[in-house]
Amino acid sequence: MASKKVANVDKNVCVACGACTKVCPKAAIAVIRGCYAQVDPKLCVGCGLCSKTCPASCIEIIEREEN
Ligand code: SF4
Ligand code: SF4
Repeated sequence: MASKKVANVDKNVCVACGACTKVCPKAAIAVIRGCYAQVDPKLCVGCGLCSKTCPASCIEIIEREEN
């Protein structure tokens, strides 16, 4: 059911602009306390849209760790 990939935000680089939250088709990414974006791995399908949109290029699409 889960995708093989998932978005991963570098919180130290994120500028909390919210652009990623607007493009995510699954509403899987949200800006937390106005500080940085956080991905809900249960909702993320690894499509990469957020990563392409991020002006700070701080979202990486990585292999999902199964656990
Ligand atoms: S990879 Fe796709 S589904 Fe996952 S957070 Fe980014 S835009 Fe949303
Ligand atoms: S688009 Fe990039 S910089 Fe903007 S909130 Fe999302 S992860 Fe942070």
